[in-house]
Amino acid sequence: MISVEQAQGLVRDGVIAVGTETISLSESLGRILAESPTARIAHPAHTVSAMDGYALRAENIPATPGTLTVIGESAAGHPFEGSVKDGQAVRIFTGAHVPYDTDTVVIQEDVERDGDTITINSIEPGRHIRPKAQDFNEGDPLLIPPLRLAARHVGLLAAGDRPSLQVYQRPRVAIVSTGDEIVLPGEPRTSSQIVSANGPALSAFIKTKGGNPIHLGVVKDDEVALSAIAEAAKTADLIVTSGGVSVGDRDLVRKAFGSAGLDVNFHKIAMRPGKPLMFGHLDKTPMLGLPGNPVSALVCALLFLGPAIDRLQGLPGSAPQRTPAVLGADVNANGGREDYMRAVLSQNDDGRQTATPLFAQDSSMIGALANSDALIIRPIGAPAAKTGEAVPILPLDGLL
Ligand code: AMP
Ligand code: MG
Repeated sequence: MISVEQAQGLVRDGVIAVGTETISLSESLGRILAESPTARIAHPAHTVSAMDGYALRAENIPATPGTLTVIGESAAGHPFEGSVKDGQAVRIFTGAHVPYDTDTVVIQEDVERDGDTITINSIEPGRHIRPKAQDFNEGDPLLIPPLRLAARHVGLLAAGDRPSLQVYQRPRVAIVSTGDEIVLPGEPRTSSQIVSANGPALSAFIKTKGGNPIHLGVVKDDEVALSAIAEAAKTADLIVTSGGVSVGDRDLVRKAFGSAGLDVNFHKIAMRPGKPLMFGHLDKTPMLGLPGNPVSALVCALLFLGPAIDRLQGLPGSAPQRTPAVLGADVNANGGREDYMRAVLSQNDDGRQTATPLFAQDSSMIGALANSDALIIRPIGAPAAKTGEAVPILPLDGLL
């Protein structure tokens, strides 16, 4: 059996990016930037005032207090068009063009005004002016791809006047749930049937990662039906199945997808939950065969499907970020499989994150997973650990 890390490497190497498309900036949140957009306007576009006050030439106030005559006004969107001579000043507001023949803005708090005469009580030559292009210049690259666009990036692209941009397409991820016993939520069912947790959860996870889920439905434990769905799934960018990938007589996914041309890259990894995980290619389309137990399916989705979807969108496809925490309870020594324990998080007195494993660690218990905040990672062969010892965790918030 290969390790989780080796398996993640094989998935990364076995998935390549999809194509790109041009979309409008208003649709771009969460998408992966595929071009290096340049600014079509400098920011600021002109030399502007950073404060409300008076624009003047510092040499006109060699000592304070000193007086000047106000000859006009420059407001944001309404620049002062004239010229400013010795002994003169212009009333100015934040964001307004600084008249070209002035070099200093004195804030209004340091000025007394009487009609058109102002008395300057304090001056710092050159202050309160934002030079043109202080932030970025026309033609400057704004962002470096690949990058998941967040609100601050959208703001930057808007400021640089980029109303449309090139991003990676949303990868089409085909979902196949397998099992004679599985029905969809709300469907009529017999007493021997259960409701699919995996299909809806995988669909949600794929959306969270920026993919486009295509639910191909629930397929019976039947080789012919499974081969047929394998053919249908080939046109997707990635195929994900749940169930039927273990070693029982009824676990037919490998065999049926095999007759449709599946080339298996690995099958079974040293991990709990999720040992039966399978990865391969159906023609050129990568396929992840997830175990049927919901916790196994979803932990494998977090560790392998997520990075694969990242990779399809041009990202490096790194494993989800681990963070440090301390144990909130003692844990036993770990065996020969890397363990991902369901845990709740709390803050201890010195502000450190405490991860307390749930009592319920059975891989069928979606209730336990749904009520956890993180997974505690226990490496292969880790010795027993006590409350307060440091452990790596994978936070679930915002991801799973
Ligand atoms: P399998 O991997 O097919 O042997 O399934 C392992 C366990 O997961 C069995 O108890 C199945 O009933 C259950 N299971 C399989 N698929 C799903 C699903 N889509 N939703 C919830 N449980 C499932
Ligand atoms: Mg099954």
